Amino acid sequence: MGRPEWHFQAAVDRRGRPSTARRSSRVDIPQSSKLNIIRLNHRWGEVTIPLVGRVRFRWTRPLAGISPGCPGRITGARLIKKTLGWHVCFRIEEPAIEVTPNPGPPVGIDRGVVHTMAISDGQMLDMPRLLGPGKERRLQALERKAARQQLARKRGEQRSKRQERTYHQIAAMRAQQARRREDWLNKITTQIAKSHGVVAVEDLNVAGMTRSARGTVEQPGVNVRAKARLNRSILGMAWGKSGRMLVYKCEAHGSVLVKVNARNSSIECARCGHVSCTNRIDQTIFQCEICAHTANADTNAAQVVLQRGLTALSGATPGCGGTAREARVTAPQREPHAQAATGRRTSIHHAGATSSGEESHRLRVGATLLRAPPTAKGGDHT
Ligand SMILES: [Zn+2]
Repeated sequence: MGRPEWHFQAAVDRRGRPSTARRSSRVDIPQSSKLNIIRLNHRWGEVTIPLVGRVRFRWTRPLAGISPGCPGRITGARLIKKTLGWHVCFRIEEPAIEVTPNPGPPVGIDRGVVHTMAISDGQMLDMPRLLGPGKERRLQALERKAARQQLARKRGEQRSKRQERTYHQIAAMRAQQARRREDWLNKITTQIAKSHGVVAVEDLNVAGMTRSARGTVEQPGVNVRAKARLNRSILGMAWGKSGRMLVYKCEAHGSVLVKVNARNSSIECARCGHVSCTNRIDQTIFQCEICAHTANADTNAAQVVLQRGLTALSGATPGCGGTAREARVTAPQREPHAQAATGRRTSIHHAGATSSGEESHRLRVGATLLRAPPTAKGGDHT
């Protein structure tokens, strides 16, 4: 029998260039007719993968057209290889759901490094520790080990099996960290989108904010180490990801997402609108010079964001600063032609058109595969 040939989609970054980071490999199965999905028991299902055969997967959520009370049908599948194993995603088509406007109260969110999110009602949402103390120690030890092995390697020599193994162990722990971060973000953003009619966030340019301070050889930057550390905390808080999650979750729950200009939101008074650096007494306390309004600095910023968002929504010209004028409203978007023609909604875009990782949220993620396709070489221990 000939060797099956999979076409692994090259990992590309958001601008379409080949990515240096090793992203997940993917295999698309555009037709659903031969998938022949059956449910074996409560936890396990079975699917036919072309050129591989019957493969078992963990049944993690109801599947359209198969699970009772779940209308729609499956139109294809995609295999995704991640550090912790293989996953199968099923592309589904389900009846269009009429989204009613969310009657919940409006809310403003300020994203920060100390508190992941500050809510305008005074709540602070902090990302929990992603690894327990034991695992954190182990990760540090592994990183030291990798550095040691790298030092011991002679010039031009290949990486040893042991070094490869260390790198794989580090990657697995980082992947677990990432998975926990994503889980927490998913829960929090769902909660926010579900219970609020209007969600206002700052329009953050995360890529710009985390640009390196390194500078050039002629003009070396200052505080490079400190900026690198800050960048790491900003990226660790996954501001960009939470923003993208809110976009489609607000759409699904009938709430309106407003992105407002973040300029001066941390030094503006939420009560009288006075802007001054001296309003900010320290990292946590905000006290207005003019009206003596005192609040937690992050809560105050979230309230300012909320006000800017509401001003932008009402269409009024803001009194000063021009802050809300630049706000962008992400109104619920429909696919009018698809809806009108068939009355059905396809839950993902055509699979071939997607290259960014975020799209996978729109896929109905099935579960980890038990066996990996035989051609996948290296690191596919499931
Ligand atoms: Zn004030």
